[in-house]
Amino acid sequence: MSDWHSFAIDLECTRCGARAELEAPQNLCACGAPLSTRYDLALAARRVSPAMLAARPPGLWRYREFLPVREERHVTNLGEGGTPLLDLPRLGARLQTGRGTAPRLLLKDESFNPTQSFKARGMAVAVSRARALGLEHLAVPSAGNAGSALAAYAARAGLRATVFMPRDTDRSFVDECVMLGARVELVDGLIDDCGRRVAAGKSTEGWFDVSTLKEPYRLEGKKTLGYELAEQLDWQLPDVIVYPTGGGTGLIGMWKAFAELIELGWIVPPLPRLVSVQASGCAPIVRAFHAGAEHADAWQDAHTFALGLRVPVAVADFLMLRALRASGGTAVAVSDAEIAAAGSDLATSEGIFPAPEGAATWAAVQKLEASEFLHGAQSIVLFNTGGWTKYGEGWRRALHPTAREAHP
Ligand SMILES: *Cc1c(COP(=O)(O)O)cnc(C)c1O
Repeated sequence: MSDWHSFAIDLECTRCGARAELEAPQNLCACGAPLSTRYDLALAARRVSPAMLAARPPGLWRYREFLPVREERHVTNLGEGGTPLLDLPRLGARLQTGRGTAPRLLLKDESFNPTQSFKARGMAVAVSRARALGLEHLAVPSAGNAGSALAAYAARAGLRATVFMPRDTDRSFVDECVMLGARVELVDGLIDDCGRRVAAGKSTEGWFDVSTLKEPYRLEGKKTLGYELAEQLDWQLPDVIVYPTGGGTGLIGMWKAFAELIELGWIVPPLPRLVSVQASGCAPIVRAFHAGAEHADAWQDAHTFALGLRVPVAVADFLMLRALRASGGTAVAVSDAEIAAAGSDLATSEGIFPAPEGAATWAAVQKLEASEFLHGAQSIVLFNTGGWTKYGEGWRRALHPTAREAHP
């Protein structure tokens, strides 16, 4: 017998507090801000326990009570979540954080997800919800991995997918979407230009917009990063979390997860300090954080081979900045050369060749090492948000900027 149950109640605007119902398709609130799913956590705390979760198979759906999918038949599953949390003993031993003993350094490796990125978590839930709501055609702007994930989950669910990507995206991302049956349109511009194309086609093409945070349920899927991290660490969160930030769902999702886990009584403060990592060629959140601003101005001429970080403007900028400040965290920009060096380091010292975005987190820790920020930190978790293979051209150019070929 199925024990499927969701404690989702409704949606609430993250800015004006207006409510919206789960039974109809939702994008942004009328005031222009993202909507966030609410749960009856008081009741959930009486009905669900960590021991119950422990008896379930690993993966995203073990947190079903805290996800918005109410009927099991709508679940679109490709094996998402349940990714390894790996110790980085050699890199950790090199860190001096002023304690005498080196901190414990860990890496959550999201490249184990379907289509090799943590975008699978968000799309698994968004597509399952789309199915529950009877939507048939989904469209998304993508820097690469969101398109691949949507293509895969839409195929799995029997829905149509259209993906808009910048024309200069690594070819592997485009091929993957096409092979998974999505229609791909290449756009002269960046992800914000792609987003405008999705918005413009809503009425003429009849598709539903599943852009990051303009659609509320990708956030719920990504929130499971926080649940899973807490569970893997036996409900003892680390001192510092270092996350590569583009549109911000990972960071905002984890912060939401921690708030829910406190309400459930499964964790206790202090919460981890969040570090947002961006590329110095596109660092709107880093700039706004250090300027003390509540919103981030659009970044001009965004460029980096860490394609998931090439997001010049984000609808949820204020939520990222709020989470960083509320956690006592910070924001760091790293150059493409620093990302490349950090990637080699992870690969040769620990056997983990990451996505450029994942490499950026190790580059950021090295930058923070000398500062007060890491002083006394005993546990630090990095996130490798994706696999390296689709960035083959980007990695080759970054690691061998002058060589035509690395090997004969
Ligand atoms: C999308 C993406 C990011 C950025 O994540 P957000 O949660 O949107 O900030 C980072 N890394 C990779 C590999 C991505 O695909």
